[in-house]
Amino acid sequence: MGYIVKIDASLCNGDGNCKDACPVDVYEIKDGIAVPVNVAECVGCESCVEACTTSAITVTEEE
Ligand code: SF4
Repeated sequence: MGYIVKIDASLCNGDGNCKDACPVDVYEIKDGIAVPVNVAECVGCESCVEACTTSAITVTEEE
């Protein structure tokens, strides 16, 4: 069981708040957009969702 991390690129402003908030370094900022490069490590804490100022992130549990 894992998590699915989605970024709405049209909302992301690349400020890196998600990257700073994530305890397991899921994110990298590439070309001004947050990219979840390490989703296998996600623990579903939703710190990134709370940190995102533009509500660009959704985290859902994998079925
Ligand atoms: S839910 Fe938690 S562990 Fe998963 S990407 Fe967001 S901050 Fe990182």
